[in-house]
Amino acid sequence: MAKKVLKFGGTSVGTIDRILHVAKIIKKELDSGHEVIAIVSAMSGKTNELLNQSKTISKDFSKRELDVLLASGEQVTSSLLSGALIDIGVNSKSWLNWQIPILTEGENLNSRIINMNISKINKFLSDGGVAIIPGFQGVSKNGEVTTIGRGGSDATAVAVAKIFEADKCEIYTDVDGIYSTDPNKIPVAKKIDKISYEEMLELSSLGAKVMQSSAVQTAMMYNIPLEVKSTFTDRQGTKIFDQESIDYTKSVTGVAYSKDDAKITLIGVQDKPGVAANIFEPLSKNQINVDMVIQNISSDQKTTDITFTIKRDDLLKTIEILRNNKNIQYENMSHNDKVAKISIVGAGMVSTPGVTYRMFRGLAEEKINILAISTSEIKLSVIIDEHDTLKAIKKLHTIFELD
Ligand code: ADP
Ligand code: ASP
Ligand code: MG
Repeated sequence: MAKKVLKFGGTSVGTIDRILHVAKIIKKELDSGHEVIAIVSAMSGKTNELLNQSKTISKDFSKRELDVLLASGEQVTSSLLSGALIDIGVNSKSWLNWQIPILTEGENLNSRIINMNISKINKFLSDGGVAIIPGFQGVSKNGEVTTIGRGGSDATAVAVAKIFEADKCEIYTDVDGIYSTDPNKIPVAKKIDKISYEEMLELSSLGAKVMQSSAVQTAMMYNIPLEVKSTFTDRQGTKIFDQESIDYTKSVTGVAYSKDDAKITLIGVQDKPGVAANIFEPLSKNQINVDMVIQNISSDQKTTDITFTIKRDDLLKTIEILRNNKNIQYENMSHNDKVAKISIVGAGMVSTPGVTYRMFRGLAEEKINILAISTSEIKLSVIIDEHDTLKAIKKLHTIFELD
């Protein structure tokens, strides 16, 4: 008998009919002799709706209260699903974060799961019950309700799979697997049968929201194989696992994009040791993550231009910090929040020369200007104007033979 963790995302539990359908999927697994723990998201759109309600009360709504508010979405779907299972004759029970408890560490809205108690739930499973656990939420050691970041139900599922030593962790969602790029944006996107943790981690952290990146990271760390599949069809999904088992024939596996970036350029910065540290230290102290950095040395070698990218939400705060920074001198500052980051990802890039050149040539053919570049062993990202996003994804998809 295998122990399975099944995670159902927002769309999968987005209506009462869908919750009834999910209950049937779970019953089938149970009837095939498996022990089942189900992790659920809030109904699709619910978390955003709650977030917007908080914003209408205050732009600076208390983070503690926001955690209590946002956690309510997953509470609703947990009880509805459990009730639906009971109604079709399955012994089911939902547990909230503090009842288990799911212990987290870190700040409000951005905590991490560090442990959870397994004894009660294991006992219930061995008695033939189905346990329903709300995704996305936890409790701090002080007993405060916490949430673990947007899309966090994926991370709950992986943490539960690890701590309960599950045999399988299946992520049920509204697409039938991982595609070469977002199939809802580029219909010719191709489904990938299997993908390595490393590639999936790059794709997720570069914008493919089909799996949350911290969930992939945990799965990779503890070697927990994942399968992403559809709640609405029986088709086989995509398996995510250890790289060694995969045969690489393609240089590029997928194209990801994110539209939540912004770019800042400091023009005429004094070029001397310590300047970069003086610019970036106050940003990091304010929890602002800097992504790409480019420095151009001017011809007189006395001044330099420094361009860097950050999350769009952090733009105003970053500008304010730079303006108030007495330790840096520069002639001018410009910023642009209408930029997008397009990335190609592939473990096969390591052994294929010319990928960089082909990407740049392809974008040039479409007259797309590259504003910043960053690379790692298995990914290449560029910042471009936001309105070129679709054109760029399509072109890269075609030239790397992903259509
Ligand atoms: P859930 O609510 O089930 O967690 P999400 O909305 O978080 O689902 O993630 C699924 C969505 O991810 C899909 O509907 C799709 O639009 C998007 N997506 C982005 N990139 C990809 C990709 N490479 N492959 C599949 N889906 C992707
Ligand atoms: N409901 C949360 C969100 O929308 C968590 C999740 O769905 O994974 O971010
Ligand atoms: Mg998700």
